[in-house]
Amino acid sequence: MVRRIAILGSTGSIGTSALRVIEALGEGFKVVALSAHSNVELLAEQVGRFGPGFVAVTNAEKVGELGELLPDYRGRIIGGPESLVELAELDEVDIVITAVVGAAGLGAVLAAAGRGKRLAIANKEPLVIAGKLLTETAKANNATILPIDSEHSAVFQAMQAGSRDEVSKIILTASGGPFRTAGAEEMHNATIAEALSHPTWNMGPKITVDSATMMNKALEIIEAVWLFGVSVDKIDVLVHPESVVHSMVEFVDGSVVAQLGTPDMCLPIQYAITYPERVEGISSHLQLDQLGSLTFGKPDMERFRALKLGFEVARLGGSAPVVFNAANEAAVAQFLAGRIKFGQIVELIADCLDRHTVRPSVSLEELLDADAWAREEVGRRVG
Ligand code: NDP
Ligand code: MG
Repeated sequence: MVRRIAILGSTGSIGTSALRVIEALGEGFKVVALSAHSNVELLAEQVGRFGPGFVAVTNAEKVGELGELLPDYRGRIIGGPESLVELAELDEVDIVITAVVGAAGLGAVLAAAGRGKRLAIANKEPLVIAGKLLTETAKANNATILPIDSEHSAVFQAMQAGSRDEVSKIILTASGGPFRTAGAEEMHNATIAEALSHPTWNMGPKITVDSATMMNKALEIIEAVWLFGVSVDKIDVLVHPESVVHSMVEFVDGSVVAQLGTPDMCLPIQYAITYPERVEGISSHLQLDQLGSLTFGKPDMERFRALKLGFEVARLGGSAPVVFNAANEAAVAQFLAGRIKFGQIVELIADCLDRHTVRPSVSLEELLDADAWAREEVGRRVG
């Protein structure tokens, strides 16, 4: 049986890697739907190569351009933010790979979960802000959620060594990013180019900045809470600059099971597609003898205040993760536009959290309100 795949955000770092993985998998897997936001040139190329029946351009102003680039295309082209939901709900789709960036992917993941699809999730922000709603929707509709995020793929793989109630700890590893050893002042004034030069992973700009603040790890703590149904008190973060041990699970008897691999997203992307099977793929294999040593250390929670906030926000739950994530998305955009200093990103997030009264449980409407409020608040503060 051919597995039919939709890639939401096919022009990004994860999206393009996913297409390489699927191309190499060959028979048995078919790309049936693709989406991009603005990069219609690359999207048109992908359409020519993979021949999906459905294409979405989420930036409505760019839909016409795609049509002009593909005069002979016989499939359906749709546009606007809501077009992602339409792709996620297609009867023609079995697996939805979510590779868009930010909360913009929320509607589509909820829709795919509601239709009982297999969800291969890279787009972590919806899980962070609506983890309860998403996991409940998935459960009620027999949807399967498989993580693409390398740490969570590692935990998911390690979890198979025991049962959920035998887990005593989840240990998320973190590279530490480009400022792992930087001084506080150097970090505060870091340039865009410095923040974008990640030592081990090659990723899109937003998550690369998140790795530099360690906000990415903070989001991943909350992501793990929802994916694995564990309390935040069972989650630890360990700095591991080599990015080879992708994460670990400690069981009650003291046994620690880790998953290792080269720092290459193709492996977790492929596993989320072929699970429960494993097949030969395009990721290079580890040469541990050439690495010599692997190192681990405690993160500096004072210099990386985002990480400390991440643990606090995960404990608070309710509307706190929504504000935490939205403030970060807005602040990172301001930083990448050259309007604020690197150090102000986390200051703005902390300010937003201070001004927000946490609601213990939130409906989808309240969640969207809190998200909009945090973005406006960052805008007001930056001026
Ligand atoms: P990129 O910025 O490289 O790609 C983002 C994709 O989403 C592009 O296809 C882009 O289209 C599209 N997009 C941008 N804005 C919107 C929007 N408002 N609505 C719909 N689509 C949009 O990001 P990454 O691939 O790096 O990351 C994608 C997600 O995966 C993120 O949530 C990230 O946290 C997560 N992730 C990424 C990892 C990585 O290695 N890159 C690792 C683990 C998780 P266009 O190109 O046309 O602008
Ligand atoms: Mg990760």
